[in-house]
Amino acid sequence: MSIIKKPIAKKPGEPVKKTAQPLSSVRGMRDMLPADQPYWRMAFEAAQKICDDFRFDRIETPVLEETSLFVRGVGKQTDIVEKEMYSFETSGSDKVTMRPENTAAICRSYIQHGMLNLPQPVKLWYWSSMFRHERPQSGRYREFWQFGCEMMGDSDAVVDAQLALISWKYLQSLGIESVVRINSIGTPESRLNYRNALVAYFRPKRSRMSDDDKKRLLKNPLRLLDSKDPVIQEMKMEAPQIVDWLDEPSKNHFMQVLEYLDEVGVPYQLDPFLVRGLDYYTRTVFELYEATDDQDLNQNALGGGGRYDGLMELLGGKETPAAGFSMGIDRIVSLLKSREDIKPPEEPIEVFVAQLGESGRKRALALFEELREAGFKAAETFSKSSIKTQMDNANRLDAKWTIIIGQKEVLDGTVIIRDMEAGTQEIIDAKKMVQELRKKMIQKSAETTN
Ligand code: AMP
Repeated sequence: MSIIKKPIAKKPGEPVKKTAQPLSSVRGMRDMLPADQPYWRMAFEAAQKICDDFRFDRIETPVLEETSLFVRGVGKQTDIVEKEMYSFETSGSDKVTMRPENTAAICRSYIQHGMLNLPQPVKLWYWSSMFRHERPQSGRYREFWQFGCEMMGDSDAVVDAQLALISWKYLQSLGIESVVRINSIGTPESRLNYRNALVAYFRPKRSRMSDDDKKRLLKNPLRLLDSKDPVIQEMKMEAPQIVDWLDEPSKNHFMQVLEYLDEVGVPYQLDPFLVRGLDYYTRTVFELYEATDDQDLNQNALGGGGRYDGLMELLGGKETPAAGFSMGIDRIVSLLKSREDIKPPEEPIEVFVAQLGESGRKRALALFEELREAGFKAAETFSKSSIKTQMDNANRLDAKWTIIIGQKEVLDGTVIIRDMEAGTQEIIDAKKMVQELRKKMIQKSAETTN
């Protein structure tokens, strides 16, 4: 919200002083403020942990890619390419796009850096922001963050199952129970037959459809299955299901994926109409939803993924089967925040450094470094000179000890250690500060465990 201030002329004839209008962030984009950072950190650390455990290597690609990468990779007829991309021409006449998703970019990188020559599958993960010019609404932003994993160079069903397992386990490690909705959309050939069957089913009903859905029927009928319009939802009930059109190898592949998921106890629901909005998917597609009693179909997905065996070739690489997923971190963070039972881990302050006078402040700077390098969680407010303010800060931060250093201590080569809980303090040799604090910490933790 902008505050509009009318310029006021102080005296007649005096020039009007203009007040600058405060600016806001661009619509659909937002600041990740410090209050939310512990949740973002929690989500990031859980991603890093699970990727380390499953031996994925991190990759980060540039925000800008050539527009043709997404047109070729994601598909011309998709919502993303048709209406959601932030695309522009640079002063050098390059047509570029701020990535709306990361799989195509990672495939580009895989091809560009000859990763086909590495032992396969190549396992990569990323944590990056994506840009889509969608209508902003709850859980839908124009800049949003995704954590994703890609496994390239293997067509085995176990890869698909592992990816569903990792994404499910990721949420579980954050305290979120989820369900995997899963389907197979076969090969491009089997999909073509299904597409014809869908068109034959929906065409006689087109007079009841919105203009958008009529367009989908014409250009990309599978996308009708994603339509939120209740009319289509109702029509869909009787629509042909893709499982009945799958070729034999895709059917077997899908059965294997499900068997592996059964084996590791990942809860899944077969969703015959799950197709996902990107053209590159083949065979397995899946999405993750919070497991709640009320499985509302309009609930926002927390993540999704699938197999994309044809994408590398589309991008000019050799035929390389691959699969992956991406998790919507903005949605996950807002879910974490809404949950009373989930709290990000806190890093309690162990020691606060307070100072008095100019010489005290100088020494305090060095003492703080000594503590930090020794591994203590230390805090300070060196710009404050009042000892009362500094002690208040130490209390607010719940510091266990405060080191106090004034002119006298500087001259004596000592420091004061104050036990904040007991309210007692003692003077010690400054050289022994770290050693003494360590001893006290051990004593305190022994007292609390007894
Ligand atoms: P997608 O591959 O497009 O299904 O995206 C994967 C996940 O990213 C989704 O399940 C969402 O959790 C998240 N996501 C996609 N678009 C947005 C958006 N505009 N704002 C926030 N999160 C999004």
